[in-house]
Amino acid sequence: MLIKFLNHHHILSRSSRYLRSTMVKRSSSTLEVEETASTVRRSTRVTKKAKVTVSEDQIVEQLEVNLVEEKSSKKKGKAKASVGAHVSAAGGVENSVLNAAKIGANAFALFLKSQRKWVSPALKESSIVSFKTLMKEHSYSPKQVLPHGSYLINLGNPDAEKREQSYTCFLDDLKRCDALGLELYNFHPGSTLGIVEPSVSMTHIAESINRAHRDTPGSKVVVVLENMAGSGNVIGSDFAQLGEIIRQVEDKSRVGVCLDTCHMFAAGYDIRSRDGWNVTVQSFDTNVGLEYLRGMHLNDSKTECGSKKDRHDNLGVGHLSIQAFAHILTDPRMQDIPLILETPSHEETSKNWNVWSKEIEVLNGLSSGETDLDSLMQDIRDVIKAAGGGKAKAKKAPARKGKRGKKSEEAEESEEEEG
Ligand SMILES: [Zn+2]
Ligand SMILES: [Zn+2]
Repeated sequence: MLIKFLNHHHILSRSSRYLRSTMVKRSSSTLEVEETASTVRRSTRVTKKAKVTVSEDQIVEQLEVNLVEEKSSKKKGKAKASVGAHVSAAGGVENSVLNAAKIGANAFALFLKSQRKWVSPALKESSIVSFKTLMKEHSYSPKQVLPHGSYLINLGNPDAEKREQSYTCFLDDLKRCDALGLELYNFHPGSTLGIVEPSVSMTHIAESINRAHRDTPGSKVVVVLENMAGSGNVIGSDFAQLGEIIRQVEDKSRVGVCLDTCHMFAAGYDIRSRDGWNVTVQSFDTNVGLEYLRGMHLNDSKTECGSKKDRHDNLGVGHLSIQAFAHILTDPRMQDIPLILETPSHEETSKNWNVWSKEIEVLNGLSSGETDLDSLMQDIRDVIKAAGGGKAKAKKAPARKGKRGKKSEEAEESEEEEG
């Protein structure tokens, strides 16, 4: 009986998901009814396979109830998790809000300026006003936005002059956050460049954060250290290093951590099973403190656990598997922070970002207890293929510079070494 109920419940939630996505595109009530019928037919097919008998009337009735419930919960903005992606801010930071809204994100990340230039023009006053207006119009709160710092910044650089250049760039980013009314700022801790012991760089990083806090009195912006994959001489792949930097920061209310799933897996934290995930969270709590967790980057990994390589992949397509994301999305400890995709979009030109839209939909599904992971994975694979990413998936093929383009490969390459 229990199995029967679970199957039934599951089929209904899948059906209502299809129904919702198709109904968005259709306004005529006749079409809606037709769509309901076809969705039901699809459901009953699955139902027969699962040897559960449910009448179509029952399903239609339940679908209608589900739809009403979903609509009203959407109205109240009661989505369980704040899920989104790192979106483009090309043409002005205000465009990031529109790009996030376009893919159905209820959280997002952006670069505040060119991530590869030391000096960028100041934010235009008109951009600041538009950004704030659009944030309100699309009901985004500053707590759902996790801007990403410039890749050039290395506050752990042993060279005082170069560290000063990084600090200037870092402070400029923080001031941009303030101007936009944002409260979080995510950056890569830094690198020893192989010149000094990690502890020396860690102290430089903490001192720079302390200085930035002093240089931005009254600011609410929390600096958020990102955990790293651990290639080269990068600081922050080990939770203990993040904890040690925070220990040396004076104003603890303005420092936090963003956990990147690809980076933590590459660093050797095996989060594929629920137990593995819980052990990792426990280790984070012991070494850093869960109260410092201010956001997550949700990326699958193209390389194996402990590879120390920073190669982001689409959800479930890499070595992490979709199951890992199910643990995260159903973990109550991860509910009130921005969860940001940094996965390949597979779309360099069309700017439809269908892959991200789908991944967000899948994450929302996982968050609300969706358990048919095979079906979710099929959805993701289909949309990647449609976006031209199918070829890029042939990992062993030498020509990996298909539609993904060289640009995004480079972005990944430099994620750690430059930062
Ligand atoms: Zn990053
Ligand atoms: Zn990241």
